[in-house]
Amino acid sequence: MPVIWTLSEPFGAKDWWPCKQSLNDKIDSIDIIVTCPRDYRDGSNGVLISEVQIGDYKSYHWKSRYPIAAYLVALAVTNYSSYSDYVPLLNGDSLQMLNYVYPENLGEARSGTHELINVIRLYDSLFIQYPFSKEKYGHAQFSWGGGMEHQTMTFVSGFGIDLLAHECAHQWFGDMVTCGSWSDIWLNEGFATYCEGLTNEFLYQSDWYSWKAKEIGYIVSNAGGSVFCNDTTEINRIFDGRLTYAKGAYVLHMLRWVVGDSAFFQGLKYYLTDAAISYGYARTADLQRNMELASGKDLSDFFNQWYYGEGYPSYYTLWNPTDTSVDITIEQTTSHPSVSFFSMPVPVEFTDASHDTIVVLQNTFSGQSFSVNLGFSPTNAVFDPDLWILSAYNTLTNINSESQSVDFIDVYPVPSSNVIGVTCHVSGKNSNNLEIVNMKGERIKIISENIVPNKVNNVSINIEKLPAGIYFIKLADSKTVLMKKFVKQ
Ligand SMILES: [Zn+2]
Repeated sequence: MPVIWTLSEPFGAKDWWPCKQSLNDKIDSIDIIVTCPRDYRDGSNGVLISEVQIGDYKSYHWKSRYPIAAYLVALAVTNYSSYSDYVPLLNGDSLQMLNYVYPENLGEARSGTHELINVIRLYDSLFIQYPFSKEKYGHAQFSWGGGMEHQTMTFVSGFGIDLLAHECAHQWFGDMVTCGSWSDIWLNEGFATYCEGLTNEFLYQSDWYSWKAKEIGYIVSNAGGSVFCNDTTEINRIFDGRLTYAKGAYVLHMLRWVVGDSAFFQGLKYYLTDAAISYGYARTADLQRNMELASGKDLSDFFNQWYYGEGYPSYYTLWNPTDTSVDITIEQTTSHPSVSFFSMPVPVEFTDASHDTIVVLQNTFSGQSFSVNLGFSPTNAVFDPDLWILSAYNTLTNINSESQSVDFIDVYPVPSSNVIGVTCHVSGKNSNNLEIVNMKGERIKIISENIVPNKVNNVSINIEKLPAGIYFIKLADSKTVLMKKFVKQ
């Protein structure tokens, strides 16, 4: 069965219709008239105002009166089956969701779009009302992989809820407020990806933690890369799944953590209704401005570290319980030299048999110490239990239990490139030396710094000159050998 569809993002609109293909001047209204063999149906933006048969042909006239970016204008034609869902909006209106699907996929389409009703209601309550409510929302099936958020009529290849939730979120983030340059593309894709997360958080709670863990795992699979898109000529960079989508989403999640829930969702409302950008184009500074307005916080450092900067932190946290409190020291290394330190509120959960408390430490430098009165003596600790911070290769060490009973050695970050940190404790009488040994156990290097017994030692070792590979850090005396593997990139 023949099918025709268009997809213009980012640079393709002018290939098939005369337009001003820019990201600074939206089209204020559009009429799309398509004539095709009469057994076919044309799906497009806005409202279908007429459907006229002329002999063996049919002519479809779609009309939209909302501002629209050139790349969001689209049409698709084939022998579609058509049906509608209706979404009750918060203000009492009913929104039509018009679906054009391949006849052979009608069953799965119906269950997918039906499931989307609750997602649209969620967005309608979390953000602002669906932005094109005078016209419609809808789907037209196409045969490209994934989806494309054409305004008021998303094109999708399948009907999984993650895809539908992502594309629908673009109606607010991408279509109503559109990235003002391709270097700001995360304002479209980071938001839509984060909305997949919000859908899990609010509607599919059991998937929420694993969604966050999966995103973090993907982002930290490479030590560098910024959300800011530094090469807008390269389509693969613009739509980089790890940076524009996943890290963009996680930066929004952390922004929410830094400003708090109420300021974050208020800031989103300000952003979407900001007269300078609503139904227009936004730059990253516009998001920052609206979030600062909602929170009263200066977010320059946050955006410099997480949006322009590359990489992520690794935290090495030492804790030492006392009768009713805990002493905590947080050290940090970063995966990329563009950011020397990520300044974040750091959550740590402390528990004993009958208590459970999450303390939030305003961590502004590496090596910072805190003393927190908990009202109990914790026996267990968990670093960032809800995954608010994009970080990896973290360690958490109870100094007290280590010094009483256990000798240990730890290396961070893993993998490492220039400098490794080693934290170790060994009981005994004599000071010792650290060694780096290779996979065969051969000594590569002796570290001259003394390791003092019966105390936690922190040592930084420059490994810049070490060839890439797997090594061990070794601490040995006559009775104990401690080894820890690390990877030189
Ligand atoms: Zn998207």
